[in-house]
Amino acid sequence: MARKACRAPATTEQVLTCLRTQCGFCGHPVAVAYRTQRTITTLQGNHLLTLRVRRCRNPTCGWYHRPYRPEEEGKWALPHGEFGLDVIALVGTLRYTSHRSIPEIHQALRDRGVQIAERTVTHLLQRYEELVAVHLADQR
Ligand SMILES: [Zn+2]
Repeated sequence: MARKACRAPATTEQVLTCLRTQCGFCGHPVAVAYRTQRTITTLQGNHLLTLRVRRCRNPTCGWYHRPYRPEEEGKWALPHGEFGLDVIALVGTLRYTSHRSIPEIHQALRDRGVQIAERTVTHLLQRYEELVAVHLADQR
């Protein structure tokens, strides 16, 4: 069943800053160009992340105006993802070690207080399978 209400407001707020202060392409200092926000749902609740995105302002650079996002953003969630990596890991664990079905996984997440649609559980399981495939293909 689809979620019929808005997500609960974020319980925590964090500001993430890009550690890189110089362009990786030309070495020119990169300044904060804009701020953006993401709300990530983890097993601990909803977190509001404020991201300080930097850009190279050297017009002759190959990375001119391309964003440098905070490195820490990747530990929270996948790009464009609404749910944290811990939720994706739990979905994969419940599916492949406990052999639970999608409705059972959905109910397990709901029991933990995660507001999620059943269809989203299917999408997260696909993300989990992609991450496992990338991990296995990346081993040398
Ligand atoms: Zn540059």
